[in-house]
Amino acid sequence: MTVAFIQVDLLFETPGGVSAPELGGAIDLPLNLARDGGAWTPPSSLAGALRSHLGDSADAWLGTPGGDPETVPSRLRLLGSETRHSEPELLRSTAINPVRGAAASSTFRSAQVLPAGSAVSLYLRVDRAQRAELDDLGAVLARWRPIVGRGRSTGRGRTRVTRVRLRVLDPATPEGLRALLGGREEQFADTRWVREWKGSTAAGPSAELSVGLVLAGPLHIGGGVPQQDAPANRAPILRRGDSALVPGTTWKGVLRARCGYILRSCGQPACMPHTDEGAACGTCRVCDLFGWTTSAPGRGRPTGHVGRLSFSDSVVSGEIVHRSHVGIDRFTGGARTGLLFSDEVVESGSLTLTVEPTRPGDQLTPADRGLLLLALRDIDDQLVGIGGGTTRGYGSLRLSGAGRELLSELAAEHPTGAAVRALLQGAAA
Ligand SMILES: [Zn+2]
Repeated sequence: MTVAFIQVDLLFETPGGVSAPELGGAIDLPLNLARDGGAWTPPSSLAGALRSHLGDSADAWLGTPGGDPETVPSRLRLLGSETRHSEPELLRSTAINPVRGAAASSTFRSAQVLPAGSAVSLYLRVDRAQRAELDDLGAVLARWRPIVGRGRSTGRGRTRVTRVRLRVLDPATPEGLRALLGGREEQFADTRWVREWKGSTAAGPSAELSVGLVLAGPLHIGGGVPQQDAPANRAPILRRGDSALVPGTTWKGVLRARCGYILRSCGQPACMPHTDEGAACGTCRVCDLFGWTTSAPGRGRPTGHVGRLSFSDSVVSGEIVHRSHVGIDRFTGGARTGLLFSDEVVESGSLTLTVEPTRPGDQLTPADRGLLLLALRDIDDQLVGIGGGTTRGYGSLRLSGAGRELLSELAAEHPTGAAVRALLQGAAA
């Protein structure tokens, strides 16, 4: 008999990680923590992604799902994991009220995520496996790109395998037995690997839409951490490193609200969650594209669904400055004492919006693409802005040259334009 140990090293390409809502206090979605206080990625949180990656061989390696009369147990055991990371990022967001186009009340939430570049090692064990099947398994694992934790539709938690290592022990030999009984330290000791695979560095799912934008006014996305020596009355901007950041959640919220508005304006169904109208319907095109959750799940009813589109974070190139404002005294019409405040803003700069399918291989229909382009045209026309202060001219964006070229797809003779016209007239499926 032989015992094989496999170590799979994953690298976070985008911020993410497994959260533990049950630990929520000051932070709504804190990271799941190990006993030592570092983040922990439970192996079980990767099991589902592993099953879908293994495809046809999933049942052979991971066993058949319960309830089957001829249940096959899992041959592959997920022994544990180790997560290495630097200081977690704190991301804050609100839902968008589709009527007002602004933040909906009582939807402010904060989430803690591991920064991009964090790493997870997953430790696996297989007993009585043939060397050839282990070699096949290693090669398949090297191509794995699981999404770890929540936020799939806002580009969170994208990882790729950087390395897979295999070690085969024979417990009949003293050396093999010693290693087997020695715990993880011995089992996964660095020196005695029999085979190693490098992970694929090929790009993930190709972007459906990559749109360059330039700022047409000051941009302020709130929720950042105050800078050292900044005065207390200065609202910090959300940052990644030294740059301002537009999180994927902002894009998703703004584009969802605008796509719904466009559909309803043309008499097509699109629900309005976060308003008096109530919860997401789960059936309209906007729910399909952007996903939905219900706050009142019933027994046997679904609690929500991940959308088909994923919106990545955009780093804004451009210097962060601060702008001062004074509050106006409503009685005298003059500046009111004690009401000086300032915002951190980016006044000029550029950024890129990236929209990808959530599921690899999925593609947008021309009608869906046209709907997104219509919403982007409204952003370009400055009917909609992003971030805070949009009522005082903040958050206006324009499509850059190549971005504007995309809008030519909205012409009636282009398949995208024809499809979205048919959709808005109620003819498209
Ligand atoms: Zn809906």
